[in-house]
Amino acid sequence: MQAAMIYGVKDLRVEEVAKPKIAQGEVLVRIKAATTCGTDLKIFQRGYVEGIIKLPTVFGHEWAGEVAGVSDGLSWPKVGMRIRAGNSAPCLRCHMCQKGSFNLCEDMIWLWGAYAEYVKVPARMVLVNMQEVPSHVTFEEAAITEPLACVLRGIERANVKLDDSVAIIGAGPIGLLHLLTVRKMGAGKIIMTDLVDERLQIARELGADETVNVQREDAVTTVKELTNEYGADVVIEAIGLPSTWEQALKMARKGGTVLEFGGCPPNTEIKISTELLHYGDVTVVGAFHATPPHFKKALSLIANGTIDVKPLITRRMPLGKIKDAFEILSTSKKDVKIAINP
Ligand SMILES: [Zn+2]
Ligand SMILES: [Zn+2]
Repeated sequence: MQAAMIYGVKDLRVEEVAKPKIAQGEVLVRIKAATTCGTDLKIFQRGYVEGIIKLPTVFGHEWAGEVAGVSDGLSWPKVGMRIRAGNSAPCLRCHMCQKGSFNLCEDMIWLWGAYAEYVKVPARMVLVNMQEVPSHVTFEEAAITEPLACVLRGIERANVKLDDSVAIIGAGPIGLLHLLTVRKMGAGKIIMTDLVDERLQIARELGADETVNVQREDAVTTVKELTNEYGADVVIEAIGLPSTWEQALKMARKGGTVLEFGGCPPNTEIKISTELLHYGDVTVVGAFHATPPHFKKALSLIANGTIDVKPLITRRMPLGKIKDAFEILSTSKKDVKIAINP
């Protein structure tokens, strides 16, 4: 079968590799769509993501497809069923899982290899993180279940309430998914910041009330101005840089919540004012990944039309052109997510 292998910085090759063979409890899936993600782009641009992958490797982790093979004795799923799965499966047995922190499982199985014709789903993932995709949901929409699941968990931590003003730093795919979600949750004024006008345009089309281009305006000053000098009730950082993590803290109102969502480079730190936490009574939360219930919820929200992820897919390309897809994402201002069709 054809599969994309990443060897290093911008060294991405589509190669002929052996089609996976399934063992007890496993399922083979013919991938129908895989969507690009900020994490994949980081791997392409930097060559690695600390602690997650070793090169060379297959990659890509947002996907959906059709069941092509089921190991003996499994009663579900059936061959031909449309499904999505992954990209993680907690063990349910470790200390973290027993505490209910399934996203922090100490024995997590991660599944990579969405940019390929087939993927083998491990037995544990079949049990805890695979769902049937309803017939009216396209494979590319179903692939976006993964990032939406992570966003849903982050937003739970951010405690967004009706009519809350929300400032979102970064209008990339993750910032836009936060926008779509808080809009549906009844947020009040939503303000988005980014460096790129084209992305802010997309944010307005998807429901942002105000947009701030940080090349021209000071983000903190503008968010304060737009919130009667109070600051936003909830601030969401969706870029992953220590500087924007710190900026997020300065945008929140007293008593507000800051969700530091974007993953920063390894070994980085930020400064937090003790007065902000004490006198400002600000809550700062982090968020990592998602749990199986979040994946299930994300797929249902896509399927019932609550979160319309279609506008996030701005281009479709065949697997053979995957390197071009990542070159485009590295330079294009207009593309949000590209659906790869193997
Ligand atoms: Zn992703
Ligand atoms: Zn565990």
